[in-house]
Amino acid sequence: MLDTITHNLQDLKSQSGKIIITTHYKPDGDAMGSSLGLYLYLKSAGIDSQVITPTDYADFLHWLPANDSVMVYEEHKEKANELIANAGYVFCLDFNALSRINEMGEHVGASKAKKILIDHHLDPQDFDDERFIEIGASSTCELIYKYVQTHLDPSFMTKEMGECIYTGLITDTGSFRFASTTSTTIRTAADLMDLGVVPARIYNKLFDQNRLNRLQLLGYLLSEKIELIEDGKVALAHLTAEEVKRFNVITGDTEGFVNYGLSIQGVQMSALIIDREYLVKMSFRSIDKFPCNEFSAEFFNGGGHKNAAGGASKDTLDNTLNKFKESIKTYKSHL
Ligand code: 5GP
Ligand code: MN
Repeated sequence: MLDTITHNLQDLKSQSGKIIITTHYKPDGDAMGSSLGLYLYLKSAGIDSQVITPTDYADFLHWLPANDSVMVYEEHKEKANELIANAGYVFCLDFNALSRINEMGEHVGASKAKKILIDHHLDPQDFDDERFIEIGASSTCELIYKYVQTHLDPSFMTKEMGECIYTGLITDTGSFRFASTTSTTIRTAADLMDLGVVPARIYNKLFDQNRLNRLQLLGYLLSEKIELIEDGKVALAHLTAEEVKRFNVITGDTEGFVNYGLSIQGVQMSALIIDREYLVKMSFRSIDKFPCNEFSAEFFNGGGHKNAAGGASKDTLDNTLNKFKESIKTYKSHL
């Protein structure tokens, strides 16, 4: 645990500028859960704040309490820049390098606000004033809960905040099944239930509200697009720009697809490579010792966690697929 937090609830209350909460681009369940969880906590404690996300995010997260209060940077740049410049505190959640918030990074970097980094990724960049980092933590949501317990006042927690925090716990741990799940994760979940959170309701909101074409895309990917390479130890699937159009893919539709490859017997590493036209985006997952983050950083300008990482390429899809197949050979000893 890296804990250099010096402020308390009173400091957050008494500062003059607004409190900004931000998270990485294309935010996932943990990113939105931690951001809105903190927002709702502060609100309950009588403190006004504003969540600003660099980009939009998946529809399946729009049910989250206080979702309507979120400002998307790309749609309100001027207003957002002004808020960031005049902020007293900027909370940076679930990312650790300013490049992960796109153009917003320049403005956050230049703002005089105190930057508070709360995160669970390896190798944080040095842009913050205070940090609450635990690499082994299941999720940033788990850390928000811990931060409130240890530095603020837990009595202001609400059921709605709990629903947000629970969302990050289950989306980042694959519903408590990944290796990152610890007894603290489960204890946190139990505490949230005591706050009134109903797991079945959250699960339904997150996973049982599929659009039919998302399921059809999954069916197509599973039946037509999975290749096993490296003696069956690596599962590789890709989608072309044409397929992305054909299935009318929207933000969040392919979330979780990369895990299916990993569920195949003998597979140690799974990759999903998608041509998003402006970029070829990659998701990597592994079990045990294969270091997805190192692999991604070395070949695809990416990063993340040991067992879950991502990267991107500006090259063509075909070249990227070939590069993947060549690169993975150099990591044979990890398979
Ligand atoms: P996903 O595959 O779900 O997009 O991302 C999995 C994990 O990898 C995320 O938690 C995130 O930390 C990391 N990640 C994904 N894409 C990138 C990237 O382009 N750069 C870096 N540094 N990390 C990424
Ligand atoms: Mn996370």
